[in-house]
Amino acid sequence: MLIQAAPLTRTIAEIFRAAGTSTAEGERIANSLVGANLVGHDSHGVGRTLRYVEWLQEGIQYADKTITILAEGDAFALVDGNYGFGQTIGVQAVQLGIDKARTAGVSVIALRHSGHLGRIGDWAEMALEAGLISIHFVNVAGGLLVAPFGSIDRRMATNPVCIGVPVADGPPVLLDFATSLVAEGKVQVALEGGASLPHGALIGDDGAFSDDPHLLYGETKPGRSPNPRKGSGAMVTMGLHKGSGLSILCELLAGALTGSGTAGPAPYRFANGMLSVYIDPVVLDVEDRISSDIKDYLDWFDTARPATPGGEVLSPGEPERRKKADRLANGLTIPEDTWSAILNAADLSGLGRARVAEIFAEH
Ligand code: NAD
Repeated sequence: MLIQAAPLTRTIAEIFRAAGTSTAEGERIANSLVGANLVGHDSHGVGRTLRYVEWLQEGIQYADKTITILAEGDAFALVDGNYGFGQTIGVQAVQLGIDKARTAGVSVIALRHSGHLGRIGDWAEMALEAGLISIHFVNVAGGLLVAPFGSIDRRMATNPVCIGVPVADGPPVLLDFATSLVAEGKVQVALEGGASLPHGALIGDDGAFSDDPHLLYGETKPGRSPNPRKGSGAMVTMGLHKGSGLSILCELLAGALTGSGTAGPAPYRFANGMLSVYIDPVVLDVEDRISSDIKDYLDWFDTARPATPGGEVLSPGEPERRKKADRLANGLTIPEDTWSAILNAADLSGLGRARVAEIFAEH
């Protein structure tokens, strides 16, 4: 289905408002989900709506929560997200990191018990807007989906890592990826008939690599979101032993160090933990040359020749910028199953699908 961002955003915001969030939080969630679709990360887009509404109703994430500061210094804080929506908790935790880095030059924020933080690039973008470098390690307590390198047993979550670096007079460098070969949402997108998975994104309990999403979800029920705990297989990490090692570090830094909880072995409640480092480059810029060094390096990087005729060499963040420009201009395509799940979410929230039809008629 080809769909425009504006009525889709209105629809998702109204679904969450009907489900019990404030208007402002509903809009934040809608902007985050549609924003992920716009930059091409459908795995973190509106396909998550039904699951978020179910989580709200089941008390897995709560509406309109505020962070609690558990420990604090000039350049650090340990904060608890109290299982509030990540789209609200993330804003508060990142703003705290930005404020501290502006006064102290650097800051570290350890966030525990946040609801799903969505696309982590959103948080690096918030820091970039404030002129700051940021580094984020994220884990998913209870999100046992990924087998370590060489194993068939789930021991880790999809654990994203994200780094943003501002560039003077140019687009920033923004690296943001799951340490699993693909993000879990991409397995869901494949299950719903969207883009298929690369072979070897999953591993069966027989040790055979596969691209069959049912290895993660098992058999699914119509009208309910698929449960990734039900499958007999596991996702695999990107970058062989290196991605696996990075994922373990996310468990330790974002899960154990923050107190959010690791992927296992305890039956931890679902939450994102995030350890974030914010750096104001100005405080390190004693020779007043960091901006020009970054710019000069990136200009030279851009002269690297493509390996294949007609190929391109991109820097991190460029694919998302291009996709966003295209999707804002031409609309975005979502699979029929995702649209059905949004209509189910509209019913489940009490908004009703008739109102969704009205919103689209108004645009
Ligand atoms: P991905 O594999 O598409 O990798 C994206 C990164 O690679 C981006 O930085 C992009 O700019 C860069 N990139 C892509 N193609 C490139 C190219 N040709 N040349 C140079 N750079 C290129 O992303 P993913 O691993 O599927 O992750 C998707 C999203 O899922 C991320 O936004 C991540 O934060 C999110 N995520 C969130 C959670 C959570 O618990 N909240 C968990 C896992 C993943």
